[in-house]
Amino acid sequence: MNPAENAQTVFSADSPLRFACHHDLPCFTQCCRDVNIYLTPYDVLRLRRALKIGSGEFLARYTRHYLAKVTHVPVVQLAMDPETLRCPFVADDGCRVYDDRPWACRMFPLDLAKEDGAYRLLADKKRCFGLHEGKLWTVGEWLESQGVGPYETMERAFHQVMPPDFRPGQRMEAGLGKLLYLAYDLDRFDAILQDPRFRSFCGIDDERYTAVRENEEEKLLLAFAYIRNQIAELFSVL
Ligand code: SF4
Ligand code: SF4
Repeated sequence: MNPAENAQTVFSADSPLRFACHHDLPCFTQCCRDVNIYLTPYDVLRLRRALKIGSGEFLARYTRHYLAKVTHVPVVQLAMDPETLRCPFVADDGCRVYDDRPWACRMFPLDLAKEDGAYRLLADKKRCFGLHEGKLWTVGEWLESQGVGPYETMERAFHQVMPPDFRPGQRMEAGLGKLLYLAYDLDRFDAILQDPRFRSFCGIDDERYTAVRENEEEKLLLAFAYIRNQIAELFSVL
């Protein structure tokens, strides 16, 4: 049996996966329509850099974003076109931001499963004809070919901003959610960073500041560190 035949199958990195996605399939780009794509801070960084616009403009033009009702965790979703329900980046010949497409798009037809290191099939075999193609990979090979590594690394770093005793789904103050949102809106963090008093207070010397200004991934990691420190302080007084 092709393991992809069973939607409940949990895959590991070593599991076989038959899959190939290409222009000649009748479903080509159909999966880029009416879909929930949740963006990570690193997704936002990559996309808005590819589009050569700021994080504020990207978030306003291309996303729906809000603090979740109960948990107050920020939720940032790629906004589909309200009339066609198509992704704003899809064209007839494919994804216009392919090299910087979001993590979820890279993972497709797979998604993360609950267990660490496990994956599940997200695509429906009746609609995703790539699952009928002959190309055989291991799941790990497929994911590597899609460049998911840096996305996983950044998301692991983002998860570490929360205090160790924080549990997913746990309620937190709206102010903490807004602080977390800074990771998505990196230009706002950049504006804070430009204040020498802030840098001096946070112990960011000129060398580190220059490095961060020249490397947006470094800036995002610094934003995570800042948010982590702020949250740790606020949690200790709540
Ligand atoms: S539905 Fe599957 S095979 Fe078709 S374009 Fe999307 S990912 Fe590729
Ligand atoms: S970002 Fe690209 S791959 Fe992802 S849904 Fe939009 S067009 Fe498709």
